[in-house]
Amino acid sequence: MALMPVADALEQVLAGVVPLGREDVGLRFAAKRTLAQPMTALITSPPFDASAMDGYAVRVSDCLTPNARLTVIGRSAAGRPFHGTLEPGQAVRIFTGAAVPPGADCVVIQENTTREGATVIVTDSATVGLNIRLRGQDFVEGANILASGHPITARDILLAASAGHATLPVYKRPGIAILATGDELVEPGEPLGDGEIIASNSYAIAAMVEAAGAAARLIGIADDTMESLSGKLRDSESADILVISGGASVGDHDLVRPALEAAGVTLAVHKVAMRPGKPMFFGTRIVDGKTQRIVGLPGNPVSAIIVARVFLIPLIAKMLGHCDTMPTLAAKLATPLAANGPRQHFMRAILDTTTLPARVSPLESQDSSMTSILARANALIVVPPDAPAMPAGTDVPVIRLDF
Ligand code: AMP
Ligand code: MG
Repeated sequence: MALMPVADALEQVLAGVVPLGREDVGLRFAAKRTLAQPMTALITSPPFDASAMDGYAVRVSDCLTPNARLTVIGRSAAGRPFHGTLEPGQAVRIFTGAAVPPGADCVVIQENTTREGATVIVTDSATVGLNIRLRGQDFVEGANILASGHPITARDILLAASAGHATLPVYKRPGIAILATGDELVEPGEPLGDGEIIASNSYAIAAMVEAAGAAARLIGIADDTMESLSGKLRDSESADILVISGGASVGDHDLVRPALEAAGVTLAVHKVAMRPGKPMFFGTRIVDGKTQRIVGLPGNPVSAIIVARVFLIPLIAKMLGHCDTMPTLAAKLATPLAANGPRQHFMRAILDTTTLPARVSPLESQDSSMTSILARANALIVVPPDAPAMPAGTDVPVIRLDF
């Protein structure tokens, strides 16, 4: 079977994907969720003209001559407003956050006054609006204050809370079932028998998808038998996405594809023109009227993580209603690159964004069995199929490894 270009495979993976349903979550649980509709302000902020400083609320027209003397008729503190109107010749003692009484049009800071009993002497000039936060200067009731379709930040939560929201409508998290396959696999922490290796992929994939906003469920390790694989495929039926690592090649023990076919999965992607990650596959099945998407990762851990970054993370982002499913950035090559072969190369690299423009250096070894190299990388350089050699300084697209 011919290898499918990465862009075509990604199109297949994202085809027909719409955000899952919505749910309301409290502000305490809204961080990193995705807002499912634009946010409008439920209140006006500030809700009243408020003092920005400690001092005296005055009328500017009373303070046109130096050292104006005003009668202090009361005080306005935060949460305890002065109930009255400022008449000519009067001032109100005021504190930060307190309502500015009607009649006043300026707050003179206390450092620019002298107090003598019930009289305050204004020793500096006063100007209209000085030290007053006007009602509605942040936002007004009904204003559109936040777009939907991006992960909610702490700053968004501040805005939502200030605008009167206690809960926010967010898209449901996609549920991801993660399955490892292979007779040779044992769980991390267990002793290794003859010919055995540790099943490391599932734990890394779970951390990745959770960082991307999904909910992960590890469903263990399937043996290389049809019975074991079929049982695990049944266990995963409720998931929105099933991620399977290993067993995707065509060796005698690679039974994943036959097991998927037996479970009603239609494959849309069989192999991809990428390095690493060639055995990647993708398919769908209908379970209880719902489409489940199945992403097949190579068993090789480095390949598995890169395939997950290139296909699974954008799939989750689209299910979460994110506008941008595969952001790349441009960086300058710090060292030259040799010409590429026929597969799109995702080179493990170190991206330095402390300089402008950002610089990116491929790591010295691109051996896809080296988890220690992947752990040092913080980015992937995307090199198109058959790209010619590139000198240092060439602009290249880069995918961050931010998980
Ligand atoms: P496979 O795709 O099953 O032929 O596996 C390719 C390579 O990846 C083999 O060396 C497997 O032992 C290894 N492998 C498969 N699954 C995992 C896993 N979950 N964690 C770590 N290595 C794995
Ligand atoms: Mg295997």
